[in-house]
Amino acid sequence: MSDETPDPPKFPPLPDPLPPPGPLPPTPLPPNGPLPRRNLPSNATLVLIVMGIALVGILIYQNSRVDRREIAYNFFHDQLAADNILGVEFKGQTVEGIFKKRPVAPPPLEPDLTIDSEESKPHEADKGESKTAKPTSTAEEKTKPEEQAKKKEPAKPELLPLHFYVTLPPINEEPTLLNQLLAKKVHIGAEKESDGSNLILWAYYALFIIMIVSVYFMWRRTRDQFMGGGILSGFSRSPAKRYDATKRPVTFADVAGLEGVKNDLQEIVEFLKNPENFQRLGGRVPKGVLLMGPPGTGKTLLARAVAGEAGVPFYSISASEFIQMFVGVGASRVRDMFRTAKENSPCILFIDEIDAIGRHRGAGLGGGHDEREQTLNQILSEMDGFSQTESVIVLAATNRPDVLDPALLRPGRFDRHVTVDRPNFKGRVAIFRVHTRNVPLAPNVNLDRLAAGSVGLTGADIRNLVNEAALWATRNGKDSVEMDDFEYARDKILMGPKREEILNDKEKRMTAYHESGHALLAWLLPGTDRLHKVTIIPRGRALGVTQLLPEEDKMSIGETELHNRLVFTLGGRAAEKLVFNEYSAGAENDLTQVTKLARRMVANWGMSERLGPVSYRTSEEHPFLGREISEHREYSEHTACVIDEEVSQIIHTAAERASQLLSDHRSDLDKLAAALEESEILDEEEIEALLGPPAYRPRELKNSPEISVP
Ligand code: ADP
Ligand code: ZN
Ligand code: MG
Repeated sequence: MSDETPDPPKFPPLPDPLPPPGPLPPTPLPPNGPLPRRNLPSNATLVLIVMGIALVGILIYQNSRVDRREIAYNFFHDQLAADNILGVEFKGQTVEGIFKKRPVAPPPLEPDLTIDSEESKPHEADKGESKTAKPTSTAEEKTKPEEQAKKKEPAKPELLPLHFYVTLPPINEEPTLLNQLLAKKVHIGAEKESDGSNLILWAYYALFIIMIVSVYFMWRRTRDQFMGGGILSGFSRSPAKRYDATKRPVTFADVAGLEGVKNDLQEIVEFLKNPENFQRLGGRVPKGVLLMGPPGTGKTLLARAVAGEAGVPFYSISASEFIQMFVGVGASRVRDMFRTAKENSPCILFIDEIDAIGRHRGAGLGGGHDEREQTLNQILSEMDGFSQTESVIVLAATNRPDVLDPALLRPGRFDRHVTVDRPNFKGRVAIFRVHTRNVPLAPNVNLDRLAAGSVGLTGADIRNLVNEAALWATRNGKDSVEMDDFEYARDKILMGPKREEILNDKEKRMTAYHESGHALLAWLLPGTDRLHKVTIIPRGRALGVTQLLPEEDKMSIGETELHNRLVFTLGGRAAEKLVFNEYSAGAENDLTQVTKLARRMVANWGMSERLGPVSYRTSEEHPFLGREISEHREYSEHTACVIDEEVSQIIHTAAERASQLLSDHRSDLDKLAAALEESEILDEEEIEALLGPPAYRPRELKNSPEISVP
């Protein structure tokens, strides 16, 4: 029915916000070198291509127009007389027209023929096919036999197309022609000398040509990208951006906490400012500094601060920018970037998220020579390439130092490793200070208390928390941000956002008992983390949450504590069974976590007597899939069986302890569940008022020793 976070609390994944907070963003200046060369191909070629295309287009157009045949003027007259003209249109000296019916083509003229068109009746002429077509049409018997034979020769009479045009003889005979046309009731049209219709046509052409040209340019661009060098545009150049120092720079004052890290980096800055000091005694200048730590702890911010402090050119790039669709671009960008850096030395080169390219070589899924590896190789050789006199320092950041290629980390490359950890209490107070600088705070806001209650949050989380609080206060129409708003924001970030659903009574009771089971066990068992809050308000994906806060400075966990953690996690289920005599589906996540933890205890950490100190781990964080995948099992079926038995054994023991503890403290459980059902949310102080001090407090602080600690 409910859920909790028993392990070091799993905070909802917070985005790693790349843009810096509020007023600090140093927008980098784009130009970091000569302007990209523009290599236009000879314009003449281009023009020729376009013109050629246009020409072809015109020809195609003309050919595809209506089939219109030129006819002789006299033939036109014949057809007119035969009343076979449907309509004509005068276009200057030519007349375009349409026949009513497709007439038979007039025979080609031959010199020995006499044309007596007056006699011929064009209609009849249609049927006659001989060269002396006209006479035959009127069924004149004077046609000789051979002529008749001849007339059979062309088997198919050739019909003219319906459309025709005829050129008028220069003799001005329009009036008579017009009269004739009018007499035959032919549809007559005329066109202005300069035809406007063609304008539209030309507009279409223009459009067409423009399209062709743009397609050509696009094609050229992609080709350039593909080839990656030579004639090509700025594609192979490094996209590293030069930091613009004229804006208000980020300085170390903007980075709260992290004093050790800042000292380390300060040294780098000093070195860049006066290298002679360091070289006096033969010291070697560090080449690469690797910042590593969880996301959101301020690595990118630190790099910016170094830029602000250093007073030397600062180039920054995100490693993913090296990788492009096209092979070889990454490596050439690296070359370009280092060239620019050397030209501007002393300077700092910052490669963010270097794990994007710096992963173990040879482990890729797609063969050994992928783009990423080439890029990495290029970086390695560039870092070897610059000499001691060139004071270029490469700063890199990653949150996955474990997957980096060892060659990157060897001396002479990124040999300085600076760990940027989650902030401790002091650090968190400082970060709260930095981020509330521009927030009007109500007098009741206690940053120390907030910091104490946000163990495990990173700088980015805290920035987010402050922002949430400010937004919430704004939404409630307040003039300043109060402690309530911060509490609200913290709960939202630690436990997930509230859900709108309301539980019915049965669900609520069951959830209350489930969470009380967890909470009571956390209270009873020493070595669990501090209880922060219990709630049965549905949040995130859970119906209820028991929120623990990990203690500070806990670097390693002992076996007893792990067993206690298992008991705590199984507490919810045990309470359901104890009170309702049935299990609910809400313990799914509990069981998953318990099983995972128990298996790790047995197989990875050698915490089972039967198996002894042997590692049987089978899954590994896979560097490229970014998640665990199972690997080949390297132990016998028998051992696998034993592991399963041991895991099951550990979990069963824990479950029994949970049931036992809860039934021993049944009255406390009821008290807690009733209180929870009523107020829906209980914090550490309220629980203490009900149950007395918890077992996780140091002994001297306890004042009610009767709480038994198993
Ligand atoms: P990452 O380590 O993932 O690169 P960033 O440097 O991008 O983290 O940090 C994200 C944001 O979190 C920063 O812009 C800053 O606002 C805030 N932040 C993180 N750490 C600190 C810190 N120590 N002091 C002040 N702000 C911080
Ligand atoms: Zn649970
Ligand atoms: Mg970052």
